[in-house]
Amino acid sequence: MKTTLRTHTCGELNASNINQKVTLCGWIQKIRNLGGMTFIDLRDRYGITQLAFNAETNPELCKQIEPFGREWVIQVTGTVAERYSKNKNIPTGDIEILAKSINVLNESITPPFTIEDESDGGDEIRMKYRYLDLRRNPVKNNLLFRHKLSIAIRNYMNNIGFVEIETPMLVSSTPEGARDFVVPSRLSHGEFYALPQSPQTFKQLLMVAGFDRYFQIVKCFRDEDLRADRQPEFTQIDCEMSFVSQEDILQTFEGLIKYIFKETKGMDIGTIERITWHDAMKYYGSDKPDARFGMRFVELNDVLQHRDFKVFNEAELVVGIVAKGCAHYSRKQIDSLTEFVKRPQVGATGLVHIQCQEGGNYKSSVDKFYNQEDLAAVAKKCGAEEGDLILIMAGPRLKTQKQLCELRLEMGRQLGLRKAGEYKLLWVVDFPLLEWDEETQRYYAMHHPFTAPKPEHEAMLETHPGEVNANAYDLVINGTEVGGGSIRIHDKNLQKRMFKALGFSEEEAQKQFGFLMNAFQYGAPPHGGLAFGFDRMCSVLSDADSIRDFIAFPKNNAARDMMLNAPTPISDAQLKELGLK
Ligand code: ASP
Repeated sequence: MKTTLRTHTCGELNASNINQKVTLCGWIQKIRNLGGMTFIDLRDRYGITQLAFNAETNPELCKQIEPFGREWVIQVTGTVAERYSKNKNIPTGDIEILAKSINVLNESITPPFTIEDESDGGDEIRMKYRYLDLRRNPVKNNLLFRHKLSIAIRNYMNNIGFVEIETPMLVSSTPEGARDFVVPSRLSHGEFYALPQSPQTFKQLLMVAGFDRYFQIVKCFRDEDLRADRQPEFTQIDCEMSFVSQEDILQTFEGLIKYIFKETKGMDIGTIERITWHDAMKYYGSDKPDARFGMRFVELNDVLQHRDFKVFNEAELVVGIVAKGCAHYSRKQIDSLTEFVKRPQVGATGLVHIQCQEGGNYKSSVDKFYNQEDLAAVAKKCGAEEGDLILIMAGPRLKTQKQLCELRLEMGRQLGLRKAGEYKLLWVVDFPLLEWDEETQRYYAMHHPFTAPKPEHEAMLETHPGEVNANAYDLVINGTEVGGGSIRIHDKNLQKRMFKALGFSEEEAQKQFGFLMNAFQYGAPPHGGLAFGFDRMCSVLSDADSIRDFIAFPKNNAARDMMLNAPTPISDAQLKELGLK
């Protein structure tokens, strides 16, 4: 990495360079003055090199460096020498530079937090000075990992004939999906562009245009309330293919995912298992199951609804999980699980437990209603053995499944079954096409309005819309949805029927999506695709909780950029120009 200002980087020199004259540039990480000797750790993107200054042989230099402080940028020339006390932890640990001359390239005021792997700075301050945070190894390495991943993906996609095509950032707003970010138009007062939530319709138009295999690593924008793993702007690996079935798409992208795991982690993930949406809900209570561990749901209506226990008898679903080896849980431990499910975030009213004790004895919180024989039947149905704890919840089907899902994940966490470094990938397939919303009393597209019903279900679109399944699929890694897509509608009339099922009038559909339906009149090929969340993929592959760590300049939980302090008010003159005042 030789330039006019340096001969080497701070991560490059080792014993093979001893006696060479070199010039390095970098930031001062640390200064240690030991009296006779002063040492400076010089840091750049590539590593750290130790500079040594001898007070006896080089008093002027020692005088020159006296005022230096952390994060000053210096250029140093000297000779590479073998180090007396070697540092085995870094690649440059065998050598040091005996400095001959130093040039200060820039001074630095004291940084607001330490630029160390473990910084003393809190989240907000590190976001405000993100350029300093990015000097720290863990954050820097995340961005380097992101880069490596994007290059691997581009290479792979290019090799299998995918073309990267950019789509516009100023598009029109549509009420479906999440909330749009909008941009006022100066030239057409009262009118707005929207920033794209995804390039969905554009990639379909590229299929109509004949591009056949498209991808793009692309920014998307969604004005949603933020959670830990959401950002208002995020990046997708967006893909679309023509003349394909669902199987072609799953195979193609299974190839990509395998390649990514091999390239970035050296791991062979084998074949990605598939599970239907219906089974995912039935056995895990979630459309994105963490399948690193079993603890599958067992439906218990038939073995628990024959006694006088109203809570179970009136429930649509009675369902349990088995926590292996947890029969010994104390009253306190079980109370705390009950408390967990009663938290507003989970929202359950209670939790029933059965302890399968030694000698075939059962102890339960519903002993009053069920005898030993009843409890043995439950244990048998659950596959529970001596020493196991059965946890049971009851209520409306979907709600109870979601609540038990939370408990299952919590038990998995408590029992150390959600192991970092272990990866369980799943294709969740056969999603329902539509989802009924009680509040607005209408159907919404579970994926998006361009997803095709399964051909054999097409006829039910008008008669039994809730029962129509789609060729839609998600990729789930360790309980996180990393991507999803579908086979699309490519027929104008079917698209019209879909909009009708979603409660659009013909005029509304024409106004918002006329461009797409028009395009479908000019020979639209059968097509389908998917998009992966790129930030999320980075975080999942790194066993990290938040996508924020993999974004160079992220927003905080209030969707603010702490460094720019954006969003900001704009001037009256700007508002007038935009017709907003
Ligand atoms: N555009 C979709 C999304 O953003 C993905 C796809 O269907 O390809 O979720």
